[in-house]
Amino acid sequence: MLLGVIAAFFAGRRTQPPRGPALEKRRVSLERPVKGGGALRFQDLFDLGEIQRIQDAFSTATGVASIITDANGRPLTKPSNFCTLCQLIRATPKGRRNCYRSDATLGRTHPEGPIIAPCLSGGLFDGGASICVGTEHIANWLIGQVRDESISDEQLMGYARDIGADEGRYREALAQVPHMSTQHFKQVGEVLYLIAGQLSKLALRNVQQGRVIDQLEEIQAELRAAKETAEAASSAKDQFLGVLSHELRTPLTAVLATVAMLREESGFSDESREDLELIGRNVALEARLIDDLLDVTRIGKGKLEITPSDTDVHACLRSTVEICKSDAVAKKQTVSLHLEAPHHHVNGDGARLQQAFWNLLKNAIKFTPEGGRIDVRTRDDGDRIEVEVADTGIGIEPRDIPRIFEAFEQLGQKRGSGGLGLGLSIAKAVVDLHHGSLSCQSQGLNRGCTFTVDLGWVPAPEAISEAVSVPAAPPTEAKGVRVLLVEDHRDTLLVLSRMLRKWGYAVTPADTYAAALEHARNASFDILVSDLGLPDGSGLELMRQLRIPGIALSGYGTENDLRASRAAGFNEHLVKPVGLEALHKALQKEEGRLLSRFPLP
Ligand code: ADP
Repeated sequence: MLLGVIAAFFAGRRTQPPRGPALEKRRVSLERPVKGGGALRFQDLFDLGEIQRIQDAFSTATGVASIITDANGRPLTKPSNFCTLCQLIRATPKGRRNCYRSDATLGRTHPEGPIIAPCLSGGLFDGGASICVGTEHIANWLIGQVRDESISDEQLMGYARDIGADEGRYREALAQVPHMSTQHFKQVGEVLYLIAGQLSKLALRNVQQGRVIDQLEEIQAELRAAKETAEAASSAKDQFLGVLSHELRTPLTAVLATVAMLREESGFSDESREDLELIGRNVALEARLIDDLLDVTRIGKGKLEITPSDTDVHACLRSTVEICKSDAVAKKQTVSLHLEAPHHHVNGDGARLQQAFWNLLKNAIKFTPEGGRIDVRTRDDGDRIEVEVADTGIGIEPRDIPRIFEAFEQLGQKRGSGGLGLGLSIAKAVVDLHHGSLSCQSQGLNRGCTFTVDLGWVPAPEAISEAVSVPAAPPTEAKGVRVLLVEDHRDTLLVLSRMLRKWGYAVTPADTYAAALEHARNASFDILVSDLGLPDGSGLELMRQLRIPGIALSGYGTENDLRASRAAGFNEHLVKPVGLEALHKALQKEEGRLLSRFPLP
């Protein structure tokens, strides 16, 4: 019966609770995984409140006194069922010291069973069993305070004198100590031994769980740190790419503007014109590479955006082939267009789709030897349109195909392709944004490649019956529109000033924030055209000060940059290298706004 009651505490821990929900609660809260570090302590491994209840129940059921101490005999729980005699003994300093010593001895680990012996201090009959974690002794469960008939009252009274207890009260208390047969007491001791064994196993499990938790936490902390490092590195890389492309873009504006201006000059020899075209082409290519870097940064951050509108895929392909024609001709390649899809309109971003097609065609030309052929084909596939770019070039091993869509992947340097390994990853991201797919097939090395873009088509818009004719721009003449032009890159400032004057604007150039403010104090301006990153201030701040119609020039073109320049008051935001046509259009738009605000009489 006794064994049953105690065993129920533990059995209930794994199976069902023996006595309803109250015990179920105990079952849960008894265990306490211990954190690593430092010596093991019973009170860290178990919920002492729960242990106290078990100890109290044990004493009530068995009729013996009971207490749990640490390995040195210092109490960890409140005594259950203690008789007055013990309280008197423990009330004296010497008695208490002796009790601790005695408890420590009785609770020592014993492989065969509990230690049952006369109490070393008071002469009563006591027992104890140790609670261990593996070989580490962490606590003693002690029982006792029953009379050992072999010791006489007089011997026991001698102890009262030894510890200095009140003899009268001691004698009275002695008479109240319960009697128990030695055999019965030993049986209780056996139960105690079993419980202590169970608690030891639990303690070991708690420690092991705790160590696993510690290890998990360590692993989690390491993972967190690794993630933070990777994120910091990635954001540093993004920032670096952003700044780098800004720095690289700025000088290109000056070169592109000069080339555009020179193109309009007469008196160049054919050879010089060719050189001019060469410079223009290569600068445009460099601008493209910089844009690719920026696009990859945007893709990495999930910030690549498209502006969908009705787009004619065939028109995109025609102009893509046109752009690449000279490269194909240089390699004596044949590029054939087979525009066979009856439905060739999509709801997409024309510029971005053309960028994707251009990347595919550019690669086909690049990776196909001289004299090869490239076929660009469209066909209908139900509600989808398929665009295929097939070449007779160096091909790809089928196992390498999945890798080519990863950024910076070039399948080894030996292929000597040039480029940054970004074209396909950008093309794929663009096609994905259009809810389409980009795939590649190749039979292997030197067996050519076929790239297929699959997009959903939409019906063609209503045909426009009459061609809308755009009136040609009137010849330039001095307009008197006053432009404050701010740009810290001297060459760009110089070329843009010349260009703006050529278009008829009255230009005041400034290469710093301070110079621009100074000019604004001495004269009034109609339009501000300003770089945003100035050495001594920001173009945004300048706009906030001047509050006139304005066009921002910036190497940065993210949504955030656009928002910031709008918020500061700029009507337009042009990303460097600024195309002259775009700048001219933006200026004309600003002029239009001025006229609508101040209509001519
Ligand atoms: P890049 O052309 O700058 O190297 P891409 O991302 O456009 O970068 O292409 C990645 C890689 O895929 C190329 O370096 C090349 O190894 C392979 N590849 C792409 N297109 C072709 C093709 N048409 N034929 C053979 N290999 C190709």
